[in-house]
Amino acid sequence: MTNNLRVTFLGTGTSQGIPIIGSTHPVCLSENPKDKRLRVSVLVSWDKYHYVIDCGPDFRQQMLTHNIQHLDGILYTHEHSDHTAGLDDIRPFFFRQGSIPIYAHKRVLKSLKKRFDYIFNEKDKYPGAPSVQINRVKKNSPFTLGNKTVLPINVLHNKLQVFGYRIEDFTYLTDVKSIDDTELEKIKHSKVLVVNALRIQPHISHFNLEEALEFINKVNPETAYLTHISHLLGFHDEVEAMLPPNVHLAFDNLTITI
Ligand SMILES: [Zn+2]
Repeated sequence: MTNNLRVTFLGTGTSQGIPIIGSTHPVCLSENPKDKRLRVSVLVSWDKYHYVIDCGPDFRQQMLTHNIQHLDGILYTHEHSDHTAGLDDIRPFFFRQGSIPIYAHKRVLKSLKKRFDYIFNEKDKYPGAPSVQINRVKKNSPFTLGNKTVLPINVLHNKLQVFGYRIEDFTYLTDVKSIDDTELEKIKHSKVLVVNALRIQPHISHFNLEEALEFINKVNPETAYLTHISHLLGFHDEVEAMLPPNVHLAFDNLTITI
């Protein structure tokens, strides 16, 4: 066990994942494991702690792949389904550990309560329904996980507020289209930055590759990893070869230590 952060990319794909069901696009047909991308999420571990950022529809498979026995909590970026749809699959953790802490903006908590009412209803609870411990995340309010401090980073996904998170020298941002200067200051010189890059063409609510690279230059991390990737970005190996030396495409099951 070590106090260093270990970050495992559980999924690096955009909302439909790669391959897309029924698609005959060459990237969707690729046999390179790095071109297969589950919905976006990371596992952040240190010492005895394991947290995930987001809990999308592939959460169960991701927990099985990495043989995760214990989960200390879920940090949410926003309420879109590719980031939240797997919440029911906390059940095995709930049965072993009791209610699972979740961390989210109040708007996201409201959305989760509506969609997973049986998890949040304390009255007449269905036997076997899991429970969560609610922790509200606020802009400019750092919070503690285990022995580490987490700084929420406020970004915009078109017009929707989204939280990214900085934990020590690691910053994770997904579904970003814009960020204001005060928030940018909070993440400058992170050692490792993870940020979304959807595709080559512009998109209304996500950075494309060019915007992600410009943003990385502003943050100036030692190393950056791109995530939330669409099949339209291209083949992993071809895109990776075009990137600056300190920027990499993340891929599913990649683990880094910070
Ligand atoms: Zn998304």
